[in-house]
Amino acid sequence: MDFSILATSYQRMTETTSRIELTNILSDLLKQTPKEFISQVCYMTQGKLHPDFEGIELGIAEKTVSKALQRAYGTDPSKIQELLRKTGDLGDVASQLAKNKSQQALFSERLTVKKVYDTLDEIAKSTGQGSIEVRINKLAALLNSADPIEAKFLVRFVTGKLRLGVADYTVLDALAVAFTGDKKNRNRLEKAYNLTSDLGYVAQLLVGSGIESVDKVKVTVGKPVRPMLAERMDSSEKIIERLSGDAASEYKLDGERVQIHKSFSGQVELYSRRLERITAHFGDVVKAVSTLPAKSLIVEGEVVALDREGKYLPFQELMHRRRKYGVEEAMKNYPVSLNLFDILLQDGKELIDESYSSRRNALEKLYSKSKSSDTISLVPSKRVSSAEEIDKMMEEALSLGCEGLVIKDPRSSYRAGAREFAWIKYKPEYITGVRDTLDLVIVGASYGMGRRAGTFGTFLLAAYDPKADVFRTTTKVGTGFSDSDLEHLTKLLSKYKLETKNPRVDARVAPDVWFEPRVVIEILASEITLSPVYTAGLDSIRKGSGLALRFPKFTGKIRDDKAPEDATTVDELLELYKKQIRQFKSSSAEDEAAIESKRQSA
Ligand code: ATP
Repeated sequence: MDFSILATSYQRMTETTSRIELTNILSDLLKQTPKEFISQVCYMTQGKLHPDFEGIELGIAEKTVSKALQRAYGTDPSKIQELLRKTGDLGDVASQLAKNKSQQALFSERLTVKKVYDTLDEIAKSTGQGSIEVRINKLAALLNSADPIEAKFLVRFVTGKLRLGVADYTVLDALAVAFTGDKKNRNRLEKAYNLTSDLGYVAQLLVGSGIESVDKVKVTVGKPVRPMLAERMDSSEKIIERLSGDAASEYKLDGERVQIHKSFSGQVELYSRRLERITAHFGDVVKAVSTLPAKSLIVEGEVVALDREGKYLPFQELMHRRRKYGVEEAMKNYPVSLNLFDILLQDGKELIDESYSSRRNALEKLYSKSKSSDTISLVPSKRVSSAEEIDKMMEEALSLGCEGLVIKDPRSSYRAGAREFAWIKYKPEYITGVRDTLDLVIVGASYGMGRRAGTFGTFLLAAYDPKADVFRTTTKVGTGFSDSDLEHLTKLLSKYKLETKNPRVDARVAPDVWFEPRVVIEILASEITLSPVYTAGLDSIRKGSGLALRFPKFTGKIRDDKAPEDATTVDELLELYKKQIRQFKSSSAEDEAAIESKRQSA
């Protein structure tokens, strides 16, 4: 197959603005492609040589390409720079130079797709000393035989700027049209693609053995499955209703998602959320996974950075592990844990069509049979049937440094590549409510547990009621404190410890220790709710209920610039509560208005 067929199709693709026409041009190109090159043509049209997960990247620096142009066309660098300034695109520069040349030398060897693909693949795989020189020579040799359009797309390809606008779905549509005559068959191809993440492989199977064999594609070790994704929802009530009162709730850890494949030969590979191979960054995880008692395996989990005491650290800390050099060093300085949450294949048996419950059982069984390791654990999962249980778990999750929860439908299979309500993510920031920070007074505290046993772990907070000159309680907070915050506060508050509750404090709950209302801290919360436990605004909105904060979090600021009487007042809390209700009503009204206008226009 002549490379010019590819290049002229690419030229037409860059000239169209219509998605349908783009698909048609691609479909025509695929029809003209001999069977044995179909996968290469699919990859190349997306600017690649291999599927992403193989991690073979071409990406030649513009400087190197410019040297290849000098060599191929005998041009000096200043001429190339001048043309680049004029056109702004190195592909156009190559095209221009090839035009000048082709007027002198009309007869040259024709470029074939095979020749171009093989040479580019050699370039991509050339490494080490002298590889730049090899790259320049090989690229120059290709350019030597290229006509102006071929030169343009060769250069755009190697510099990673092909940009034909051909998305995965465009290729799937074009394949369906070209080889089954019906665009509707895209769904069947898409299913196979979701299981293998390899468009070239799906194309080859379709062209070689027909659509029926595409339907039979299975999950395969070594080809990452496109990840199942979560929809978001903003209230635990809605979530539990959506999942028919029965759900599996898991912590949403703030790390990096990995899909881990272990082959029969014992080889372990790790793939990122975007399906890049990231095995080299996580040697410790690879080692730990090798010991799992399964002949072959595909599991998913979240890799999270840990501090010296084994507490989860935020996502940014993990970035120390995503480096090319000094990987060993980083592994020592930034330990991680792998927290498994799904299993897709075990001992050669595909599990993705089984329900969440049954996959979770398989995962737990595997884990219980494995050697204990500091590196691997299971993401906690709890069966819940009420909004209250979800909220309770959310508090726990946040206090451990998680982002929130992922709540899963226990009946659902693993839906590769789909973002649906079978997984629902729930984070405090989705709950629209209080945006401002609140300054509240510490009136009591309870001791921490475990590692935090020596210091206070949660604080009872109050708002100020100036009319009665009293501090009325509104929440307990245990989230957002670093170990040093807790040590500092424990020391600071020791001066203000009391035997009994201060008369200026109005409370219905009893902490381990009471304090004089002196220390003010800054708090963020996602919402103000009603609760019979707290006394701020008691009876103002509903008889027997006061105002409480949902998912309160310490911002890190002790407001020693504020006297306790400068704290947020009960009236301010009431105002915020009413504003929240108004916002909620107006957003529901907007929704209704939108639905009504849609209905009318239909
Ligand atoms: P986000 O930025 O919220 O992580 P996302 O688009 O990367 O979103 P989503 O599918 O929307 O991914 O959310 C699920 C993500 O949450 C997963 O990709 C994974 O990285 C992470 N995660 C953490 N804990 C879990 C868990 N227990 N189950 C599933 N995913 C989890």
